[in-house]
Amino acid sequence: MRGRFAPSPTGEIHLGNVWTALLAWLQVRSAGGTMVLRIEDLDPDRSRPAYADKLMADMKWLGLDWDEGPDVGGRYGPYSQNERRALYQVALDRLAAAGLVYPCYCTRAELAASAPHAGDQERLYPGTCRHSPVPADRRSARRPALRLAVPDGEIAFTDLHAGYVCQELAREVGDFVVRRSDGVHAYQLAVVIDDAAMEITHVLRGHDLLGSTPRQLLLYRLLGCQAPVFTHVPLLVDAEGYRLSKRQQALSVAALRAHGITPETIIGYLAWKANLIDIFQPVKAAELTGCFDIAKLPGEAVIVESYELWQV
Ligand code: GLU
Repeated sequence: MRGRFAPSPTGEIHLGNVWTALLAWLQVRSAGGTMVLRIEDLDPDRSRPAYADKLMADMKWLGLDWDEGPDVGGRYGPYSQNERRALYQVALDRLAAAGLVYPCYCTRAELAASAPHAGDQERLYPGTCRHSPVPADRRSARRPALRLAVPDGEIAFTDLHAGYVCQELAREVGDFVVRRSDGVHAYQLAVVIDDAAMEITHVLRGHDLLGSTPRQLLLYRLLGCQAPVFTHVPLLVDAEGYRLSKRQQALSVAALRAHGITPETIIGYLAWKANLIDIFQPVKAAELTGCFDIAKLPGEAVIVESYELWQV
């Protein structure tokens, strides 16, 4: 088994990141597999090297180690996406040579106008530039984004936690971006290239990415690569039901440490929330490998109240 944790260094890591990291780590460690740390610093506008350094220090403090990663290297490096752009471009060129990719000159405003009620939902691209390509003399100076021409048909898979998932991609998501207009390769493409190239067999990540998985499975298929087994775990949410995010600074690992909370308390708290232990007590991550079981994980999002951490 080869698993990975693939954080984006866009802020201090918080309890929600540790939750996913711990469960991914336990899945691998309980099976005696190899753990990979990959820094997903693809987006230059949002990623900061200092956050990557901090998150590695936080992970080590929590007792979550890795066998391959940016600091220790490994056979499948480099382990930062920023250094892997050439690989993404090779894959993109292959898709383009197969006629599966087309340029899209639509602006954000045009896309918003075409789906005004989509809200936060993934916007279904209406296929404007696929069906009526912009003639060369009317193209703006702006570089186009590149989209994948999604074929009709269903993509189905069985998630080890979420169960059977089936999506009709063309109808539900439409042609998605594989390279942004600023030249940055899309997460959907990069994550597939990396997981395939790093021979990842098991991906465990947050439930928020469940809806991305059919797009990724299509890319695996088009690129002729073996897809990993997926496990999408429930998210941690605050008392109002909002997903924990980098905005909740009070639940960052740095803030918890500054308040004297120990790594064992954080791990014990999360293990208790994951139903891996019956009572909330301090525990080391390495002591949990014997009790990891995906079937025990809660079915729904898990509510976190920060005061609970002080109750041990
Ligand atoms: N880099 C992504 C994130 O931080 C996770 C990607 C993945 O696990 O596939 O949300």
